[in-house]
Amino acid sequence: MTSRPEADQETTASAVSLTAEKTAAVTGNTRKVFVRTYGCQMNVYDSERMTDVLAPEGFQATENMEDADLVILNTCHIREKAAEKVYSELGRIRKVKEARAKSGREMMVGVAGCVAQAEGEEISRRAPIVDLVVGPQSYHQLPALLDKVRQGKKVVETEFDIDAKFDHLSARAQTPLKKRPPSAFLTVQEGCDKFCTFCVVPYTRGAEVSRSVAQIVSEAERMAASGVREVTLLGQNVNAYHGVSPDGATWGLGRLLRRLSEIDGLDRLRYTTSHPRDMDDDLIDAHRDLKTLMPYLHLPVQSGSDAILKAMNRRHTRDEYFRLIDRIRDAAPGIALSGDFIIGFPGETDRDFEDTMDLIRRVGYGSAFSFKYSPRPGTPGAAMDDQVPEDVKSTRLAALQDLVSEQQKAFNTSRLGMTCDVLLEKVGRNPGQLVGKSPWLQPVQLDAPENLIGGIQAVEIVGTGSNSLFGRLIDGQDETDFTGAIPAPAAQAG
Ligand code: SF4
Repeated sequence: MTSRPEADQETTASAVSLTAEKTAAVTGNTRKVFVRTYGCQMNVYDSERMTDVLAPEGFQATENMEDADLVILNTCHIREKAAEKVYSELGRIRKVKEARAKSGREMMVGVAGCVAQAEGEEISRRAPIVDLVVGPQSYHQLPALLDKVRQGKKVVETEFDIDAKFDHLSARAQTPLKKRPPSAFLTVQEGCDKFCTFCVVPYTRGAEVSRSVAQIVSEAERMAASGVREVTLLGQNVNAYHGVSPDGATWGLGRLLRRLSEIDGLDRLRYTTSHPRDMDDDLIDAHRDLKTLMPYLHLPVQSGSDAILKAMNRRHTRDEYFRLIDRIRDAAPGIALSGDFIIGFPGETDRDFEDTMDLIRRVGYGSAFSFKYSPRPGTPGAAMDDQVPEDVKSTRLAALQDLVSEQQKAFNTSRLGMTCDVLLEKVGRNPGQLVGKSPWLQPVQLDAPENLIGGIQAVEIVGTGSNSLFGRLIDGQDETDFTGAIPAPAAQAG
């Protein structure tokens, strides 16, 4: 739990959907694409969309960069020195590209994602091996952009035409999908208008834009028909969702969740990442009313100090956050709360940090992600005085992570002996073992036959690890009538 998951994930083409296979067979002109994905679930989703868009061009995903005719780095700007890390990765790719050229094989290189959006032409200038720089709103144009590359042009496409991207996603939803894993992401919203002073998202992803209800329902129905049982709705500020419904009204996220819960076969819904200010009553009520909405909420607060919340431009106070948590817990007792915390934001004093520790004790989290503040170029925070020394940040971060670990352990231990529904997702490390997901988003390991993958089974929780649970299949029982409405472990008094 050293950092938020958005910043830690790195996946390769193996994790993206492989609809390219089908089309390559049709065209008989197979080329290989290697996609390396950094960052958040939205980037994982975007990488899937890129391989889908490239499928009609005959591109098949490969896990081996040396085999690839096209290499795409789908980058993330959250981490410190993100751009520099991309440039050093491009240095490694240059050697692969040169080796392929010596053997008479070409390799196109593209940079996508938030670093592409932020750096633009600078990438082609500093790394001449890059043929294509493409921002997150332009992936639907990849085939046309690659045509330009083949004509010998260097291409930089970082326009913010998000409506065109969403329209394209909608058109894609009409085509059949091959069988998908049981859990999938679905982007409903992109961009952010909040301008927190530490964050690059409003600059790299642009203003908030929501997909229409019809587009989302169509894609979700298609996912359910291809075997998906759990959908996580994604957005940089997902609970700011405000999409147009078929009758022209504007729906918030709560209404959208109610509509999606009517889809046959879609048994589990989640959403991430939310801002406290956008948790409206309808969304909170959805947690009370919808059995399909899992009892888990990732609701970043970042700091427990009013002074730091103000400096971060979070636009709420700690007391407002406490009142919000009370309303959520009234609606959904036993919900697992997760948060993000930034340690050592400019001006953070010992007292401010103690306010954050106090907030954590009072709320009681099932899990949380925390990281040291590091300035992002171009954000207001980077220009603030009173930057906190690294050693102070490290000491505070360690103390906070100890506290969160205790709470996570307490939360996991409180599941012992409980029977809950587990979505079985994949084989585990050991023979005969499967890994699934609890309603509260913990991985659950258990012995079960492979033919149960994709199903939801009643499981008794018989053990806990630091980040996961161990379960026992309850013979002959599929799903329970479990609602997640169980008492939360007592939050520690602050
Ligand atoms: S709400 Fe989230 S995405 Fe938007 S600026 Fe703040 S931290 Fe960034």
